[in-house]
Amino acid sequence: MKVMVIGGGGREHALVWKMKQSPRVEKIWCAPGNGGIGTEAECVAIDAGDVAALVAFAERNHPDLTVVGPELPLVNGIGDAFRERGWAIVGPSKKAAQLEGSKIFTKEFLQQQNIPTAKMYGAFESANEAYGALKNLKWPVVIKADGLCAGKGVLVAQNFEEARDFIERVMERNELGAGGKRVLLEEGLEGDELSFIVVTDGKTYAPLVPTRDHKRVFDGNQGPNTGGMGAYSTDELLHEPLRKTIISAIVEPTLAGLVADGIPYQGFLYIGLMLTGSGPKVLEFNCRLGDPETQAIAVRMDFDLAKVLEDVAAAALEPSRLQWKAGASACVVLAARGYPGKFQTGKRIEGLTASEQITGVKVLHAGTKRVGEEVLTSGGRVLGVTAVGPNLGAALGSAYSAAEKIHFDGMHYRKDIGRHLNSLRASGN
Ligand code: AMP
Repeated sequence: MKVMVIGGGGREHALVWKMKQSPRVEKIWCAPGNGGIGTEAECVAIDAGDVAALVAFAERNHPDLTVVGPELPLVNGIGDAFRERGWAIVGPSKKAAQLEGSKIFTKEFLQQQNIPTAKMYGAFESANEAYGALKNLKWPVVIKADGLCAGKGVLVAQNFEEARDFIERVMERNELGAGGKRVLLEEGLEGDELSFIVVTDGKTYAPLVPTRDHKRVFDGNQGPNTGGMGAYSTDELLHEPLRKTIISAIVEPTLAGLVADGIPYQGFLYIGLMLTGSGPKVLEFNCRLGDPETQAIAVRMDFDLAKVLEDVAAAALEPSRLQWKAGASACVVLAARGYPGKFQTGKRIEGLTASEQITGVKVLHAGTKRVGEEVLTSGGRVLGVTAVGPNLGAALGSAYSAAEKIHFDGMHYRKDIGRHLNSLRASGN
């Protein structure tokens, strides 16, 4: 089997690494890949969002299966382009990818299907109308730019001034581009956040192990938001009654609603939840796997990922194939100086070989490139040091021991990945 993976971050390195272990896989291409992926797959210099170039590549090279990492090619219609040609691909159609591509589409869908979510106050195409709607609302109010905004499109506004300032930047000064042409106002929810990810072939589905990520750059959830500074997975994150509620109140009505609307979903569906006092509610959907959640999930996979994804593309998923390693996993992201602001690149990375000698550790590359014998930094999030272990403490211990062996100028990382679990237990979730 020849496989093409689209994307070039830590999530895609995790997918490549895991599929490479399959005896069925003889070749993997990755577009565009990165310095770590290059040792396990053939990197192809095509932008992940360039659907026409990816179609042309597949026409020449005939991958038996294509797996899409990021949202951009999906929102640009790569799922449709491949399926129209009869090529196997894992990823939803352009229409179904609207679950990530449009917050307003998603809110309307959730309301129609009676799926628990924050109450919508309105959707607006003009800043003046949005300012007007802010009067008489209970704070905080959440403002969401409708389209893709690289993680910058949401503000939990504590008061009118903050809200007005954000709407002005998004709608009047177009700071987020086309994604900010429309905004959604919704109720602010309180609670702990949880990511719940399922893989589905449009007919049946299988949940992946639960994960939680850490978005803020500094320990104690301080500092600005990032793409994700780490993640961990343990079954303890989700007790059985809550898992059942999420499945029956959210996952199944979502998948059935999409089928009823004529847009069956095929691929990974990431559900961002707030565990509120009145039950879990949907904050967002992503039409793909999370990064760095995927890294923490991949090291717990005890099954042939290539086979399962081949089945997903063929609408023949067998959920019982997804077997998981007991215990836990953790991924600690090593970032470049300045990240998530302007960051430095081109720094030499040392200690990679030594770090992977620790049992259960896999260093997954995100922003790296290989120049001769050296591996250099080339992005803000550089490496995801990932480990599996018999329990969360052991997995974290291995990941942090491995992280300490790695060095590059300006490297920084959070020291408190996974600590949150204790406070969750205390709060009863
Ligand atoms: P989203 O991209 O919609 O998940 O929003 C990004 C982040 O904003 C979420 O992970 C939450 O931390 C926060 N958020 C989004 N919607 C709400 C809400 N209704 N209430 C409180 N926080 C929210």
